[in-house]
Amino acid sequence: MSKRTTLLAVFAALAALALAAGGTVLYRSFGTASAAPPVAESSFSALRAMIGDGRVAELTVYAHGTGVAVDRDGKRHRALLPPPVSARLAEEAAANGAAVAFVSEPEGGSGFDGDTALAVGGNVLLIAGIGLAAWFFAVKGGMRTGTKARLAAPSESLVRFGDVAGCDNEKMELMEVVEFLKDPRRFARLGACVPAGVLMSGPPGTGKTLLARAVAGEAGVPFFSVSGSDFVEMFVGVGAGRVRAMFAQAKKKAPCILFIDEIDAVGRQRSGSGSRAPHEEREQTLNQLLVEMDGFKANSGVVVIAATNRADILDEALLRPGRFSRHVILQTPDLAGRAKILAVHARKVTVGSEVDLHLVARGTPGFSGAQLMHLVNEAAIAAARAGHDAVAAVDFETAKDRILMGAERSGLMNDDDRRLTAIHEAGHAVVALHLPASDPIHKATIVPRGQALGMVVRLPERDSPALRRSRLKADLAVAMGGRVAEEMAFGPEEISTGAAGDIQMATRIARKMVTEWGMSRRLGLVAFSGQHADPYTSEGVRSDDTSREIDAEVRAMIAEAHDTAVTILRTYRGELDAVAAALLERESLSGAEIAAISRGTPLGLDQAAFTVG
Ligand code: ADP
Ligand code: ZN
Ligand code: MG
Repeated sequence: MSKRTTLLAVFAALAALALAAGGTVLYRSFGTASAAPPVAESSFSALRAMIGDGRVAELTVYAHGTGVAVDRDGKRHRALLPPPVSARLAEEAAANGAAVAFVSEPEGGSGFDGDTALAVGGNVLLIAGIGLAAWFFAVKGGMRTGTKARLAAPSESLVRFGDVAGCDNEKMELMEVVEFLKDPRRFARLGACVPAGVLMSGPPGTGKTLLARAVAGEAGVPFFSVSGSDFVEMFVGVGAGRVRAMFAQAKKKAPCILFIDEIDAVGRQRSGSGSRAPHEEREQTLNQLLVEMDGFKANSGVVVIAATNRADILDEALLRPGRFSRHVILQTPDLAGRAKILAVHARKVTVGSEVDLHLVARGTPGFSGAQLMHLVNEAAIAAARAGHDAVAAVDFETAKDRILMGAERSGLMNDDDRRLTAIHEAGHAVVALHLPASDPIHKATIVPRGQALGMVVRLPERDSPALRRSRLKADLAVAMGGRVAEEMAFGPEEISTGAAGDIQMATRIARKMVTEWGMSRRLGLVAFSGQHADPYTSEGVRSDDTSREIDAEVRAMIAEAHDTAVTILRTYRGELDAVAAALLERESLSGAEIAAISRGTPLGLDQAAFTVG
């Protein structure tokens, strides 16, 4: 349990990875997980967001209002869920594919020791799981005989364009769809062919679902919602049947919107040669979808809006005229967009008059709309906890730290651990300080949060659409700084597992530099997209020789970064020790404080909230 998992959280790393994945996401990295995953404290809104995103595999609701969600990575999250809330959430969870169990004991079990409680909980889950599986197969049996069309009842959407901040061009594009839905006959009379399909793409949390709902809300038409992953079935033919039934049902309610989330689950490129069953099934489903879309030509009044964060892997056939011919691309909001989104969500809580949302927006580069909503909610929770009358600037700061770094955990570290962590984090910080290409340090801390014993958070000063090689190399060196500092302070025998997360992250960055971004002279400007290799064809699979060469080049890049870190920390050994000492004393330091220490200036008062740099 007490495995050392200090790590450096670097914005750049994940931003880089996210860029590679076609979007900008917030950085977040964890150290190695310990054997029995601990439960992370979470909030109702965070759990709901996870459930909404389909990230929760199991939800257990205990008596006295706690819920524990297990996400698809096996991580556990606990939140307070008073009964009316938990009932609603449980329904949502079940609808989003989670196994839901209610436990009549309070969490931890009264009168049990922890292990028994766990065992009981496990059994309850197991029984619930078996029950659910039985139900699942029963329903599927019905589907196979084609007797039941299952599409959740449409909902009336209360969302309007006014609830979607920014995205003005996207809203304009969708206005046409709204007008069509309001009066399909007007368009039909003139012989106009309004697009039957709109594809929305963009990173998670950028408001795809929200915007689709807003279209329905503006037009005042029913909103049917399904997820592409619902169609991916084990039995051949089920998915296609389901698509047919779904369209038939939507047509009856026309004009309406049929929203297909995660269309990539069905709409991935067809390989042509694949013959395995799951593949064939998906292709049948996709073909049926295409057939249905083509049957829409006669202005049936149904507009299909599909959403994906992987538009790059969609089958081209989906994008042909008459199908998803309109493409709306959503992006992670820029500074102005973030301020607007914050304003929309701040309307729902009482915000102190001294809070400058523009400043908050500046301190949250890379945040998606969903994360900004989460930030406002977490800030309101922090304010309530602190007994404030209104949400204050410090509450936003607390919330941001919590979102960026996870909740604080205490009672984990003895003095030895703290010293090692302080040196380790100071190593990251001092290397970052002396590499101009690195993003400025936002904060360094040795307060354990989430899975990490400490961390250094850097935030970019502006939104940057592309990452330079100099910056990536700086990130690699900063990542090495923790381990190098441990070596220098305690000797090679005393280095710890604390660098696991750093090493993992550095490897990912270096690998992408070599295989995707053409930044290795030896391997050249070639994409070796092994990760996206198609298991059913041999597309994207590399030769052994190439793999060896890639590994060697990745190793060389990391070795170079290690050398850079050694040089910097040898040169500035005094700063390393001073920052480590200050961390031991204060536990957390702002970027400005670290800069002051390295200049030899004594520490002044705490910096204002949201200083970046
Ligand atoms: P996606 O479908 O792209 O993953 P969602 O539409 O589910 O994202 O967004 C999740 C939540 O984030 C929304 O319900 C909303 O509260 C918030 N959000 C996202 N984008 C915006 C935006 N542009 N304006 C206001 N809120 C937003
Ligand atoms: Zn580290
Ligand atoms: Mg969505």
